[in-house]
Amino acid sequence: MEKQTQEATTNTPSKPKRPRRTNKRPKNTAQSSRPANADVAGNQETKGANTTKGKVWSIDDFPVAEVEGKLRFHDLNLPDRVIKSIAEMGFEYCSEIQAETLPMTLLGYDIIGQAQTGTGKTAAFLIAMISDFLDYPLEEKRPNNFARGLIIAPTRELAIQIADEAEKLTSNCHLNVVTLVGGLSYEKQKIALETENVDILVATPGRLLDFARSRKVQLGKVECLVLDEADRMLSMGFIPDVKSIIRMTPHKETRQTMLFSATFPKDIQALAQQWTYFPKEVSVVPKEATNQNIEQVIYTVEADQKWPVLKQLIQENGGQRTIIFANRRDETRDLYERLRKANINCAILSGEVAQDKRVKTLKNFKDGVIQVLVATDVAGRGIHVDNVQLVVNYALPEDPEDYVHRIGRTGRGGETGKSVSFASEDDAFMIPEIEKVVGESIRCEYMVDTNR
Ligand code: AMP
Repeated sequence: MEKQTQEATTNTPSKPKRPRRTNKRPKNTAQSSRPANADVAGNQETKGANTTKGKVWSIDDFPVAEVEGKLRFHDLNLPDRVIKSIAEMGFEYCSEIQAETLPMTLLGYDIIGQAQTGTGKTAAFLIAMISDFLDYPLEEKRPNNFARGLIIAPTRELAIQIADEAEKLTSNCHLNVVTLVGGLSYEKQKIALETENVDILVATPGRLLDFARSRKVQLGKVECLVLDEADRMLSMGFIPDVKSIIRMTPHKETRQTMLFSATFPKDIQALAQQWTYFPKEVSVVPKEATNQNIEQVIYTVEADQKWPVLKQLIQENGGQRTIIFANRRDETRDLYERLRKANINCAILSGEVAQDKRVKTLKNFKDGVIQVLVATDVAGRGIHVDNVQLVVNYALPEDPEDYVHRIGRTGRGGETGKSVSFASEDDAFMIPEIEKVVGESIRCEYMVDTNR
């Protein structure tokens, strides 16, 4: 299996950042020199206990061999409770963005990171934030609606995905995660703010601003701010909201800021500089426009042959976790009905499906309860599910960039995947544009329904 090659470039801030903290935990060089549970000190209690069947968990229970060129989580002097969660999640070595950012963010530096989904950027910022909060427990009592960490993401799906990962990474400590996103019950979120500690707040801009303006959540003591997918926030028109939110947080010199974006148009470059304080800039860009672990093929078909060929394809690949993309909501609905009638275990994920239903559908898909998901591009952006074996483009996307996004739902985390794209007389003219974006020619096969 060929692993996706990535290229990392870094530059050191011109002037060292004034240390945000003065009493940073001393560096633990020897793997087990810190007594087990040492970081349980302070006023933070363990949630999912640091013990397994009465035995205290220590970093020695998580052996990871040293490998040249790879950074282990062991080497970062993380709190044991964070390392334990990392071990439970099955991570061993830092991904490139983690190896580039963590040594700096753990020291309190700000980050401007160019990284796409799939690079491990979520864990990169969460591990830094959680470790910091455990190392520096709150010294004062304050109402529980004051957020310590704030993560702003452009879409509900991404926010929920981040919150899921935050829950896993905090499973062995008492830090609490609260999610505020539009489209889900306002009332439930309000109750969460009233009854839970807002240690880590994950939010989309609009809903967050509603709660912050009515002072149901307080941002004046935020210690760590993350802006994820900043370029998408720009393209979705959220920057004015994000600016208002940032104005409610402490000054950039007294908070830590991590900004991630897949691309850096001029506006984002300017905002990134404005919002961060002597940031370290890191870029992890895939060398290839698309992942080499994905086998791509285009089926050229006559328009009336698309459905029978698709049915055959799905039936032949019985049981494979599959996402089918269509361009319009009515197309997704039509396809979903046809698949259902053909007794294919499927569900629909498009903008017309209520948000709570979308979250449930995504969960069922992740859990393997649903085999085939029919999605539009907008809804599809939120699908970060491992082990998707097949992506089908029932119609070629109108924007060639969407092709890369779509097929990137498979072949994640070093797995192999396949994409099959249907091109008929209506959209075959798009092929050269798509090939330009992916930087290679894509194999074409002429297909007809063999049962015809
Ligand atoms: P992200 O780019 O944050 O969406 O992460 C992509 C996927 O990589 C997620 O499923 C993560 O759980 C997983 N991941 C993150 N860091 C690591 C790591 N160090 N080792 C293995 N998998 C990881």
